[in-house]
Amino acid sequence: MKAEAVLKEIAKQTSVCTRCKLHYSRRNAVSGAGNPNSMLMFIGEGPGFHENEQGLPFVGAAGGFLDDLLAEANLKREDVFITNVVKCRPPGNRDPLPEELEACKPYLERQIAAINPDVIVTLGRFSMGHFINNSKISSIHGRPFWSNGRMVVPMYHPAAALHQPSLRSVVVSDFQKLPGMIKEAQEARRKNPDLASLSEVDAFNDSQDDHGTEQLSLF
Ligand code: URA
Repeated sequence: MKAEAVLKEIAKQTSVCTRCKLHYSRRNAVSGAGNPNSMLMFIGEGPGFHENEQGLPFVGAAGGFLDDLLAEANLKREDVFITNVVKCRPPGNRDPLPEELEACKPYLERQIAAINPDVIVTLGRFSMGHFINNSKISSIHGRPFWSNGRMVVPMYHPAAALHQPSLRSVVVSDFQKLPGMIKEAQEARRKNPDLASLSEVDAFNDSQDDHGTEQLSLF
């Protein structure tokens, strides 16, 4: 099935999903939006008030800042695919609970497998936690690692930079490095076709012992 069809199917499934309690307060599920064939995928935390109203990711204040950050990397929304680790809004924008993250995980994994991006940017600690355990975002932001055949770049959540102005220049500088990292990831995947063809779910399971990561220096 083509990526676009898989993403549409996932959007349909998440709109009626009852796998966790978040569906009780859902107005719209936010499965994701953007280019189904993008080389670059952004994964945020979960829908907020405006996203829940509109059914689209990052349309509130953090979304406006994300647009500015994309421009720092010479990118537009339509070039990339944007989603979240949980597809329904946690009430009051609280942190997603472990069981909610777990319930939503298969949707995210199918999205990643369908899009097959060269680079995944995680926005905030919950999406970083999908790929790497026991790491502090303050130590590893902007530093790429490899997970299941793709480059993962942990970044601060745009909302964090809005609340903490000192983080703003850090986030901007991490985004400015993205074009170079995309080029590096594409070259590595071209040289190592096995990287690009790794099965997302199998590789994810296989790599849990080492937190699903390989150091960039391996390539
Ligand atoms: N914050 C997120 O993490 N995701 C959104 O879609 C909006 C705000």
